[in-house]
Amino acid sequence: MSDTTAPLIHKQSFLPKDAMNALVRRLVDEGYTVIGPQVHDGAIMMRPLTTADELAKGVCDEQDGGRYRLTDGDSEMYFDNVVGPDSPKRYFFPPQQKLFTLTIKGERFQVDDTTPKPPKYAFIGIRACELAAIKIQDRVFGIDVDQQTFRCESDQYYRRARQNALFIVVNCTRPAGTCFCVSMETGPEAIDSFDLSLTELREGFIVRTGTEKGVALLGQLPAREATSAELELASMKLRRARDQMGRRLDTRGLKEALDKSMEHPRWDEVADRCLSCANCTMVCPTCFCSTVSDTNDLATGQVTRTRFWESCFTHQFSYTTTGPVRSTIRGRYRHWLCHKLATWWDQFDTSGCVGCGRCITWCPVGIDLTEEATAIREQQTEASDRSGRGFVDEWAE
Ligand code: SF4
Ligand code: SF4
Repeated sequence: MSDTTAPLIHKQSFLPKDAMNALVRRLVDEGYTVIGPQVHDGAIMMRPLTTADELAKGVCDEQDGGRYRLTDGDSEMYFDNVVGPDSPKRYFFPPQQKLFTLTIKGERFQVDDTTPKPPKYAFIGIRACELAAIKIQDRVFGIDVDQQTFRCESDQYYRRARQNALFIVVNCTRPAGTCFCVSMETGPEAIDSFDLSLTELREGFIVRTGTEKGVALLGQLPAREATSAELELASMKLRRARDQMGRRLDTRGLKEALDKSMEHPRWDEVADRCLSCANCTMVCPTCFCSTVSDTNDLATGQVTRTRFWESCFTHQFSYTTTGPVRSTIRGRYRHWLCHKLATWWDQFDTSGCVGCGRCITWCPVGIDLTEEATAIREQQTEASDRSGRGFVDEWAE
């Protein structure tokens, strides 16, 4: 995931709990901006930190459709919580970013690239599904970090931030009620694309290295070889996490079923409940819609272009000279779900969903993509089986 070639998986080590502060300090000393899970505004957020004391230690979360609560957990556990509403996405693809300014110089314009230089990020405590989401966004933003190749139109800021990032992933031993990473084959354990991976036990962490950078970092910490009892306990916890997934989604044949379900009556049912608030797209670690806005300053003669996150759930996102292409909530929800689980495959050769469950937790009316996709597949009728018709019908609605 960082700037090396194939991932290196070495023998597993044990890192005691009290080494967590030394790990964060080491990263800060090496010039990293360290990002980790902390409690902010009543939720677990990925925010900058300078000591391990800022991590959300001893905090658990409860998640279900439209429901999120923090609770007291085991005071010895740093990562007994699961993903919150934000993700590493905001650090590679910021919600708001100045792109360039145009300045009038006589009869010409001067263009200045105002995209800032990203810091060197070290993410600690990100999850396997979030690494999977980053790999999906790599395709969207046109880069292959491992191969050091970029499409000519790759996003400059994203590329610079991704090239220098370091990832310390935490394998999930307690999934949330809305998680379904096992169904999407993205978790709960990270298999590759990390610098270090941690599985948390009460007394310390089982650590695996994935890159030379990870090996060098671990070499500066008081790690020892893990005992067979510690390794067995870690595998038992990961097995239990797999068995305790809050949700599941059968993805076999799902793309084909969705491709044929443009007129399914379920789209009307979900449209009755959906508020078109865009929460699901804002929290999703793979959604990438954006828009730009230009501001003019007559005093300086400068025009500034800024990019903002947008959502396919808003009217203005698909607005053309004749009005919005997707004028109904039915059409917008259908577009979003079908993009995530079906047409993303056509566009990027991967699913657009990693099973993190955020869109279920943070939907104010608890709409559940696993439930909707399952209902559409299971209630396939002749009337619903009209490939592509809906996109045309939408113009007339
Ligand atoms: S599905 Fe839920 S979160 Fe998404 S737009 Fe509709 S109401 Fe909002
Ligand atoms: S669609 Fe929902 S479950 Fe899938 S990656 Fe996005 S937020 Fe997570």
